[in-house]
Amino acid sequence: QNTTVILDQAGINRALTRIAHEILERNKGVRDVVLVGIRTGGDDLAAVLRERIADIEGEKIPLGILDITLYRDDLSARSDRVVGKTKIPFPLDDKHVVLIDDVLYTGRTIRAAMDSLMDLGRPSSIQLAVLVDRGHRELPIRPDFVGRNVPTSREEDIRVHFDEDNRPVEVILAKK
Ligand code: 5GP
Ligand code: MG
Repeated sequence: QNTTVILDQAGINRALTRIAHEILERNKGVRDVVLVGIRTGGDDLAAVLRERIADIEGEKIPLGILDITLYRDDLSARSDRVVGKTKIPFPLDDKHVVLIDDVLYTGRTIRAAMDSLMDLGRPSSIQLAVLVDRGHRELPIRPDFVGRNVPTSREEDIRVHFDEDNRPVEVILAKK
């Protein structure tokens, strides 16, 4: 099976540190900034980004988890939307919400995530950070912060490996 290492642990760390700085620069600090990681993958990345931001700014910002499995327009009817293991124990009103996911592909997950956030409150902005943008968008959605752009074919698959402490250690491009 054909596989290529896109990012090793050092590469992931550099990308996440850069993204942490970019988030702080864009928002002029951590005031009113909250992180929301999309399960699964995005939640673990969000936890690492939160630590990285705390290292820089000395403040742990709120971190929520969004499970949008049942929000996906192509996976369920709009009428029976149920929020799964979503945990956002803080108000979103007037917050700058940074959505975090591991891989951005068609954009449908992010559309559903935005839908879900809007149901929960009225953020002053929603921004998007992803570790890998693999292309093939089907909606007008683009990330604000990107670890690595990886041109892929639809037959390929990005694998993000996490260690036992849920820290990202490797990103691989594989043929399905
Ligand atoms: P989209 O909704 O943009 O089509 O797909 C993005 C969602 O599906 C993300 O939550 C992401 O975790 C997952 N996903 C899509 N393609 C890949 C991929 O190649 N690798 C991984 N690890 N996740 C993917
Ligand atoms: Mg994921």
